[in-house]
Amino acid sequence: MGDEEQVSRAVVSCPNCGKVEVPTEGMIIHEADMTYEFTCPECNTNVFKRANRSIVKALRMAGAREEERVKKPVVEPEYKGDAPLLTLDDIIALHFELEDDEAIKGWIG
Ligand SMILES: [Zn+2]
Repeated sequence: MGDEEQVSRAVVSCPNCGKVEVPTEGMIIHEADMTYEFTCPECNTNVFKRANRSIVKALRMAGAREEERVKKPVVEPEYKGDAPLLTLDDIIALHFELEDDEAIKGWIG
């Protein structure tokens, strides 16, 4: 019944498709820019998202690749008002305990 391979997947939101599941090993961290990147499995769009240290750390632990080359990130201004810069439900499937909410607040402060 299916393969039991331990593939970490992240639930991320594609601007075209909404919530999609992406294998974290297919995701790319741009730490210099504090963004990460994934290719939507549905529409093949390259999506850039803003990250923070917690996200970068979580993605790294989950097997995402790192890219040192600096690209021009296209960050969607998804957050509004007092919402966190990047809601952690982008990576809910990882089930990481991201305890430093304070650090996240620091990014929007
Ligand atoms: Zn898509």
